[in-house]
Amino acid sequence: MEPAFTADGVVRLGTDLCNWFLFEDGGEVVVVDAGFPDYLGQLEPGLRLLGRTRADLTAVVLTHGHADHVGVAEQLRQELGLAVWVHEDDAHLARSAEGRGKTEAPMLPYLRHPHAVRFLVHFRTSGKPQPIADVRTYADGDELPGGLRAIHTGGHTAGHSVIHQESRRVLFAGDLLCTLNPLTGARGPQLLPRPLNLSSTTMLDSLTKLEGLEVDAMLVGHGDTWTQGIGAAVSRARNIGPT
Ligand SMILES: [Zn+2]
Repeated sequence: MEPAFTADGVVRLGTDLCNWFLFEDGGEVVVVDAGFPDYLGQLEPGLRLLGRTRADLTAVVLTHGHADHVGVAEQLRQELGLAVWVHEDDAHLARSAEGRGKTEAPMLPYLRHPHAVRFLVHFRTSGKPQPIADVRTYADGDELPGGLRAIHTGGHTAGHSVIHQESRRVLFAGDLLCTLNPLTGARGPQLLPRPLNLSSTTMLDSLTKLEGLEVDAMLVGHGDTWTQGIGAAVSRARNIGPT
């Protein structure tokens, strides 16, 4: 997948299985989520699309501490001195780079889906993230670099947060919602599957925090960008329920 603009000021990087993003505002570029370690080579082409260089990068903002979202963060911290931001309740995941930790359901029944096998093989073969030696923590409602704001939406992980940019009307939904289920391969807005979550029930509750946000584009960790309204995405995910 070539880096490409996917919303106002947003370049989508990654593969068809996992996204990370560059967000540019007023000449400042923030990395939102950090993919897998082997994705680092996508950074320069992405910056070129924005007409920016590494010198314009100011921070890495993580929606949560799972291994497929922290991939290049420590490399960027070490090489460029970027601050890496994560919710305080996910700091331990980011610092340990342990992967997904304990979840609400076993993976085994999902392995009947070819897409699950493809995703898990990609997970294993795209580099092992380094623990992030120094993280800065945010809490619900905090302002972040790039005019971004964190909205805590627990359930996927304890500290999972969506990141909203009000003036650009973009929402980085992380792994609260996906539009391509990493395990079943089903498309369209829905919760992440149960073997990747602490609590799908808490995630369903968290969806209320998305309603009423001004959003033209919802960027997700897995799948294509959703532009058909946040209300439609939330009601679809509620109708489907846990996946
Ligand atoms: Zn995740």
